[in-house]
Amino acid sequence: MIRTQIPRFRLPESVIDEEVDYILRYEPVTHFGKRVDSLKEVLAQGWDAVFVGTGAPRGRDLGLPGQKEAAANIHIGIDWLSSVSFEHIDKIGKRVIVLGGGNTAMDCCRTSRRLGGEDVKVVVRSGFDEMKASPWEKEDAQHEGIPILNFLNPKEFTHKNGKLTGVLFTKMGWVEKGGKKRLEPTGEPDVHIECDDVLMAVGQENSFPWIERDIGMTFDKWDMPVVDEVTFQSDIPNVFFGGDAAFGPKNIIWAVAHGHDAAVSIDLFCQGKDVKDRLPPGVSMMSTKMGIHEWAYDNDISLDLRYKVPLVEPEVALRNVKIEVEKGFDPLLGYKEAQRCLNCDVQTVFSAPACIECDACVDICPMDCITFTENGEETELRDRLNAPAKTLTQDLYVQDGLKTGRVMVKDEDVCLHCGLCAERCPTGAWDMQQFFLDITPAGCAPKHVSRKREPMPAK
Ligand SMILES: Cc1cc2nc3c(=O)[nH]c(=O)nc-3n(C[C@H](O)[C@H](O)[C@H](O)COP(=O)(O)OP(=O)(O)OC[C@H]3O[C@@H](n4cnc5c(N)ncnc54)[C@H](O)[C@@H]3O)c2cc1C
Ligand code: SF4
Ligand code: SF4
Repeated sequence: MIRTQIPRFRLPESVIDEEVDYILRYEPVTHFGKRVDSLKEVLAQGWDAVFVGTGAPRGRDLGLPGQKEAAANIHIGIDWLSSVSFEHIDKIGKRVIVLGGGNTAMDCCRTSRRLGGEDVKVVVRSGFDEMKASPWEKEDAQHEGIPILNFLNPKEFTHKNGKLTGVLFTKMGWVEKGGKKRLEPTGEPDVHIECDDVLMAVGQENSFPWIERDIGMTFDKWDMPVVDEVTFQSDIPNVFFGGDAAFGPKNIIWAVAHGHDAAVSIDLFCQGKDVKDRLPPGVSMMSTKMGIHEWAYDNDISLDLRYKVPLVEPEVALRNVKIEVEKGFDPLLGYKEAQRCLNCDVQTVFSAPACIECDACVDICPMDCITFTENGEETELRDRLNAPAKTLTQDLYVQDGLKTGRVMVKDEDVCLHCGLCAERCPTGAWDMQQFFLDITPAGCAPKHVSRKREPMPAK
């Protein structure tokens, strides 16, 4: 999908080549351009372990009235995007309707604008805020002159003499029933929108026609193979899954992380070890103190709002599907954006035995996130803090062992990591420590874990 569905104007091919090269440089045996039609056949070849990373390649179809008659101009979004990538398709009609509210819909509409679509509309069943697309993807589509029409549910494709003429929509709205909000038709007259082409981007599914169902692998009610969430092992012990194939469509970061975890399992499995007996990540903390007011990290706080990545002007960007839209930060803007970093890898670390409860840290903290108080039940304690801790998903940091029997409570949610508490503390009870996490790679015993990377073989 990285190469075939994500449009070039968002992810240039040179970037994909560079990433793939990091692996190809190790010269693995590859069989590109080969389709696997049977897992039984693969297993019969006697591999010690098999990793399935076949993605979620099926775009959902609406199957509405009129679809068969006007099929030539109604396309499944992810199939259409791959045809564009393979350069089988290089144009589309002037008036395009994209159905769906996710990121694939945003890629479809923006690609259409580059392939000749002049009047491109995204039509979504739900409201704007409920759309699955990321806010910045919606913003980028709108920036390219693409309107998003909400609360319209496609009902029928209209056609004349075998040619698509438009889409008929039912008007939808939120209705409250039994305390629950549901989307339902409002009863208002249907809306007809004329168009030359329709792209359906209404969902993505897994598809495993090549895995025989009598092979001994359990499939769940969604027809997904049952895969262990930690080991990525299926119930055929030497078959592992990862990426979109494991638990449905997600994103590239997830797919890469799954690959790492499955590699750990495959390594253990091939050594005849228990795949569940995995090493936890290595964790270490290091003080960043350099002097009384000096830290090994930049603790200045910037109040700037997020800087937007500059974009190529739409008139230029829309000329070619391969022109990368995001120009990236120049050094100055990159510096300013980096200054907004909250240094979340640098933590406040508290030592109760060193604390003399002078309250100097409480006074200096610009966010009021430190409180010395009597301990209590969590809900009540959250309300009692100097600044009540409202974000319930963020655990409180509570430390006992103080001489007065009170506890030190810190709300990490609002901490700026500015280090002022540690600078002011007369006894060094607060320290700012950098946190390191070493994910244990495949083939590593604890004593081998180190931050030093192996050098990359020369190309
Ligand atoms: C339009 C679109 C835009 C996206 N944009 C982003 C984005 O901006 N950022 C992001 O992080 N993610 C994005 N994603 C999601 C991302 O592409 C996927 O999550 C990711 O590619 C999953 O990686 P994967 O290796 O699991 O599967 P895939 O990338 O789908 O790779 C599966 C591979 O298996 C091959 N294959 C499938 N079946 C067989 C078979 N039977 N035999 C042999 N080979 C087979 C396929 O040809 C393919 O090469 C997007 C997805 C779509 C559809
Ligand atoms: S690091 Fe700054 S914001 Fe965080 S607790 Fe200390 S003084 Fe407060
Ligand atoms: S400044 Fe230091 S000694 Fe004083 S209350 Fe805070 S942690 Fe304790």
